[in-house]
Amino acid sequence: MSVRVRVAPSPTGFLHVGTAQSALYNWLFARHQGGKFFVRFEDTDKERSKKEFEEEMTQTLKWLKLDWDEEITVVSNNLPRHQEMLSKLLSEDKAFYCHHTKEELEAERKEQEEKKLPPRHVCGFKNNERGKEAGGIVRLKVDETSDRIIAFDDAIRGKVEFKQSLLGDFAIGRAADDPLYHFAVVVDDVDMKITHILRGEDHISNTPKHILIYEALGFSLPVFAHLPLLLGIDRSKLSKRHGDTAVANYMNDYLPEAIVNFLGCLGYTFSKEIISKEEMVQEFELAKVHKSGAIFDVQKLNWINSQWIKKLSPQEFKQKAGLPQIPDIVVPLITERLEKFSDAKEFSYLWQQPEYDPSLLKWKKGELSDAKSALEKVLESFKDISWDKETLKAKLDEIAGGDRGMVYWPLRAALSGKEKSPDPVELSLVLGKEEVIKRIDIAVKKLS
Ligand code: GLU
Repeated sequence: MSVRVRVAPSPTGFLHVGTAQSALYNWLFARHQGGKFFVRFEDTDKERSKKEFEEEMTQTLKWLKLDWDEEITVVSNNLPRHQEMLSKLLSEDKAFYCHHTKEELEAERKEQEEKKLPPRHVCGFKNNERGKEAGGIVRLKVDETSDRIIAFDDAIRGKVEFKQSLLGDFAIGRAADDPLYHFAVVVDDVDMKITHILRGEDHISNTPKHILIYEALGFSLPVFAHLPLLLGIDRSKLSKRHGDTAVANYMNDYLPEAIVNFLGCLGYTFSKEIISKEEMVQEFELAKVHKSGAIFDVQKLNWINSQWIKKLSPQEFKQKAGLPQIPDIVVPLITERLEKFSDAKEFSYLWQQPEYDPSLLKWKKGELSDAKSALEKVLESFKDISWDKETLKAKLDEIAGGDRGMVYWPLRAALSGKEKSPDPVELSLVLGKEEVIKRIDIAVKKLS
């Protein structure tokens, strides 16, 4: 049997990091097994589904480089098949029309809530003639008197069981020509010959319903596997109140390799922390996906991103960080210290004269006049000096005469305009003699 899997996002917003993770695990499983991976937009929520979200999701999945094997499908395009299958169930008496009004159903739901009963609708229309009369919601007939346990072998969680009697006659269509998610998803998965359904744990309670639909339609079941959910820092399901949940919000600052690496490790223990998706493919086994959710910790993502940034060539880095054409030797000074691309602007002193207040030049144990005289001495000695690490360091130490801060502090400030920066000797080497002398000169003038 060749593996066929899909990710089926609802195009009701930007691609969520959790959906990206589901896409990744489906992709990894397909690639490891030599199978196929598909994307299907589930636009069964007509009010909230938008073409622009389909477009955004497509672009974002491409950015993550999770390639799919056939053109993307859209659920609503399969409507004639859904209608045909719904009519089939109605004519076979496996489904019926529920003529209860919204108000009646609402009152029932409230009562169940008050009595702390599980919400379900056991419909009085299912076994009488009116249930055959067109109009109203279409429901699947579910025998509430049955003591059947609907069980399935989840490829991640093992045996999962639900009592059939708790399901009620659940809705499968708003009308005979208007299928709901539960119904469309089953028909589409059957039509696409999906062999394994890997989706978020939040769908686990839908699976027994889907199993009953497969059975009613006479189709054999796929393998189900429910992926752990991403959690916020307080261990509740990740949501907007925890921070950005759209992949799009990470695109400017992070590399796709870092996002994929991070999401991959949030539900699976690979052999190393920094890992490419191709390496993950080699190792991936469905049964090893974690059962419990992991915290979406941006600090961890930042660290992973910093590791991937270091792998870029200087040219790639400058382009991605939007930097001017600075010499390549400057780049490691930035990438050694950078977590996110937008932080690169903090290093603008590497390619332009920094702006700073003269008070920054003052070392905490000295006065502004001490800074001035130290910088004057450095300026004088730098004019005619061999420009290498050892010579520069020896000269600065000599001027400092035991109190390094007296010289190193104002020099760092003069060169970078910052309290923290790479070592001033290192900085001098990458900036070059001419630029260093210019910057010290400016500093001295600021103090005059
Ligand atoms: N459309 C569902 C979602 O976005 C996925 C359903 C499924 O994978 O079966 O959560």
